[in-house]
Amino acid sequence: MELRKAGSGSLEPCERDMPVALPGEVLIRVLACGVCRTDLHIVDGELAPPDLPVIPGHEIVGIVARIGDGVSEFVEGDRVGVPWLGYSCGRCSVCLAGRENLCPNARFTGFQNDGGYAQYVVAEAAFVFKLPEEYGDVEVAPLLCAGLIGYRAYRMAGDAPRLGLYGFGAAAHIIAQVARHERREVFAFTSPGDDAAQAFARELGVSWAGGSDQPPPQTLDGAIIFAPVGSLVPEALAHVAPGGTVVCAGIHMSDIPSFPYHLLWQERVVRSVANLTRQDAREFLDLAARVHIRTRTVQFDLADANDALSALKHGRIEGAAVLVPAP
Ligand SMILES: [Zn+2]
Ligand SMILES: [Zn+2]
Repeated sequence: MELRKAGSGSLEPCERDMPVALPGEVLIRVLACGVCRTDLHIVDGELAPPDLPVIPGHEIVGIVARIGDGVSEFVEGDRVGVPWLGYSCGRCSVCLAGRENLCPNARFTGFQNDGGYAQYVVAEAAFVFKLPEEYGDVEVAPLLCAGLIGYRAYRMAGDAPRLGLYGFGAAAHIIAQVARHERREVFAFTSPGDDAAQAFARELGVSWAGGSDQPPPQTLDGAIIFAPVGSLVPEALAHVAPGGTVVCAGIHMSDIPSFPYHLLWQERVVRSVANLTRQDAREFLDLAARVHIRTRTVQFDLADANDALSALKHGRIEGAAVLVPAP
């Protein structure tokens, strides 16, 4: 399923030749691919891929089908995952400083590199991960972005005993479980009146769930904004204690309205989180192997990718949408 025209809002089915694993690459037969909000931003034109057509999808679960020359980490038949970071140069100053997530030469899966809305995909072996065996193929897919980048955002929120999560979708439903495992209290904010999402959050053990227009019952120590809604930044700041951090975890957000300085005063911090490093992936997948995270998924056939994107856009997905190619 490829995007041919920027901002066209939909993907087109197409047939392509089987991709070839070049030296350092692996060819992967896709078993499942999660649908991320970033894919929606790409298809809707809020993020413009440098070249079209492109196949979206960066929460790829599959089986190694061919090994390129020089690849020793994997053998054919391994089950692996491919996340958003598809390549970093390893030579620039940010890469050398351990921040390959900010590499100016990075390539991202489903953006510069063709992604997992397909039956097969090639990926750089050095950016591919083995997945914890306890998880099913569909169940594990959302961990590869909602989980990984959600976890990076979670760490950036600091050691917050009371954590607010704005937008209770794929990432928040995973991070709420991690936070509960670490005995933190979670406060879930949904679109006003979204009773289903609030009930879902309560099922996962949050202390409180309500609309983003409601104040939490207690002051928060930190907050993560997963919803692409800039007006939530001053909302979250107003509920965060002095010294607390508000993390903007999405790749795209509507404009942030101006707000009075007193919301930021007292060393409150607003920051974004961009992409992921391979170290984030190793840490999070290691955690996921020890703590079984129950992902809630809604499965779609690959051919119905546009339906999945539309359902995500209209808030009709509880948890995460996952595409599965026909066998
Ligand atoms: Zn670099
Ligand atoms: Zn993503």
